Amino acid sequence: MSRRETEVPEAASWPLFKWLWMSYLNPYKWKVSIAFAMMALEGSMMGLLAYVLKPMFDRIFVGGDAEALKWVALAIMAIFLTRGVSGLVQKRIMTWVGEVSTAQMRRDLLSHVMALDSSFHNDHPPGHMITRVQGDAAGIGAVWRSFVLGVGRDIIAVISLTVVAVSIDWRWTAIALIGAPLLMVPILLVQRAVRSLSKRTRDLGTDITVRMDEIFHGINQIKLNALEDYQHRRYMTLQDEIIDLSMRTQLGRSIIPLLVDVVTAVGFVGVLYFAGGEIISGNKTVGEFMSFFTSMLLVFEPLRRLAGLAGGWQAFATRLERVKHLFDTKPSIVSAPGARTARPERPEIRIEDVSLAYGELPVLNHTAFVAEAGKTTALVGPSGAGKSTLFNVITRLIDPEDGRVVIGGVPAKDIDLATLRGMFAVVTQDSLLFDETLRENITLGRTDVTDEEMKTVLDAAHVSDFVNQLPRGLDSDVGARGSLLSGGQRQRVAIARALLRDTPILLLDEATSALDVKSEAVVQAALDRLSKGRTTIVIAHRLSTVRDADKIVVLNQGQVVEEGSHEELLALGGAYAELYRTQFGSDAIEGKADADAQSADDEAGASEAPRS
Ligand code: ADP
Repeated sequence: MSRRETEVPEAASWPLFKWLWMSYLNPYKWKVSIAFAMMALEGSMMGLLAYVLKPMFDRIFVGGDAEALKWVALAIMAIFLTRGVSGLVQKRIMTWVGEVSTAQMRRDLLSHVMALDSSFHNDHPPGHMITRVQGDAAGIGAVWRSFVLGVGRDIIAVISLTVVAVSIDWRWTAIALIGAPLLMVPILLVQRAVRSLSKRTRDLGTDITVRMDEIFHGINQIKLNALEDYQHRRYMTLQDEIIDLSMRTQLGRSIIPLLVDVVTAVGFVGVLYFAGGEIISGNKTVGEFMSFFTSMLLVFEPLRRLAGLAGGWQAFATRLERVKHLFDTKPSIVSAPGARTARPERPEIRIEDVSLAYGELPVLNHTAFVAEAGKTTALVGPSGAGKSTLFNVITRLIDPEDGRVVIGGVPAKDIDLATLRGMFAVVTQDSLLFDETLRENITLGRTDVTDEEMKTVLDAAHVSDFVNQLPRGLDSDVGARGSLLSGGQRQRVAIARALLRDTPILLLDEATSALDVKSEAVVQAALDRLSKGRTTIVIAHRLSTVRDADKIVVLNQGQVVEEGSHEELLALGGAYAELYRTQFGSDAIEGKADADAQSADDEAGASEAPRS
């Protein structure tokens, strides 16, 4: 049902397992070997147990040898003790290996996913990625621990018990196991079915996480639009499907043990007939029969489990397949080999004939202009003109299909990606705040920020205006995505962050409706201070910004239609003059409505209400 299902091609199990082993388990091969040795010990104790039953019956119960009682009792004690201890050691080791390797897989997945292109993330919602990194990796670890371990122990148990049975009478053994090969066909069929069912179950699980992620992110919108029932129904539809799929998967998994039981019964009855006659005629002892019988009884349990695991393996393979596929997805936006790590001297930005389309939709169309070093270039244009997309092209969140961006004479593609991104500070309408303290949101992991530096930054960004009103000052939590701060406060935090980063280039996407007049003025003052001396490109919505910009670039349908200073463009009487009139009113042309331009220091706006 989901588009994700078709995305992951089915892979053969063995190469998947080999990849898992080589990437995550091979480093612990010695520990794993010890665990396997313990497992072998644990499994073989079953064979030994069946074996000691022979002397127990023949010498003690039938032969009446009281001496033998002692050592048989001792042997049984030793067998169980060994089984218990080896089981414990083996589980400890494998739990450790399982946890550590899962954590490593998660770490690798997380950094891999973070490196993937923005376009990949547009197509894969956060819930989807959370399921991959958390759920699938944990599933692989859990299955690996319980399942691979169980398999080792059970295989050894089956082998040791079969050896005991064969040593007593190979014909009996053959009769008992006669039906086993018949199980192969149904096992293979069920395996295929279970694999496709568990794949769909996992995809649905992902859809559920995505849905919940959307619900909780949009909780206020859901409340305000009374969408609770709607969301609830959508959620339950998915849940119902999961129940149905789980029932079918479980049926598939249980059919195999059922078949094993039937085959067991046939084998038992066959042996009983055959062996019964031989014991009555005195060809075999009671002890031999008991030992054989016990080993056959004991062998079917691990055999049953092994057969049941065929289905489990398929579920495991499905997860492994998805994780491997994610690892195989490579980012296309990467540093070119030998890319330069030194920053270009002059942070002038040239957009050279850049074209880009989202699918069929052309967004940038031979766009070209220059943002001069240390000056402010204002981008104006109707909504959808491609202004934000241009920011993404400059910062290489997207690469253009045609044309290039040149920074200080160096094509952006030839600059190391980290160096390039390190040259920008981006302040947008929805600057991301993390659920950490205000201080952490500004320093972003830097520990070398002195108190003085911090104070300068806080003052310049007008964060000082409200920081003292917060319960714990700079150490107050800002809430998820900064929800405990108002829109204007969040923006000022973003500005402080940018000031501290002190980058040569600044990309600003001005907020408009988000702020009231007072806080807009404060934010404006902070922005002015921030852009001083930096190459600034600003998506301008404010009158003052547009008028004071060194250059205005008018964008329409991805093309530069006009550029020049405010006065020049007004005099031209073209698109800009038109836009200017509609956006700021005809009053603005006479300069009467210039509310933004005034200094805002005295308007330390604490008046905004926190976002709900
Ligand atoms: P502006 O910032 O000028 O309002 P944008 O650059 O945000 O314009 O968007 C330009 C066009 O590209 C719009 O029509 C928008 O719908 C489309 N667009 C933006 N981002 C994407 C995306 N990730 N996938 C598809 N279309 C997009």
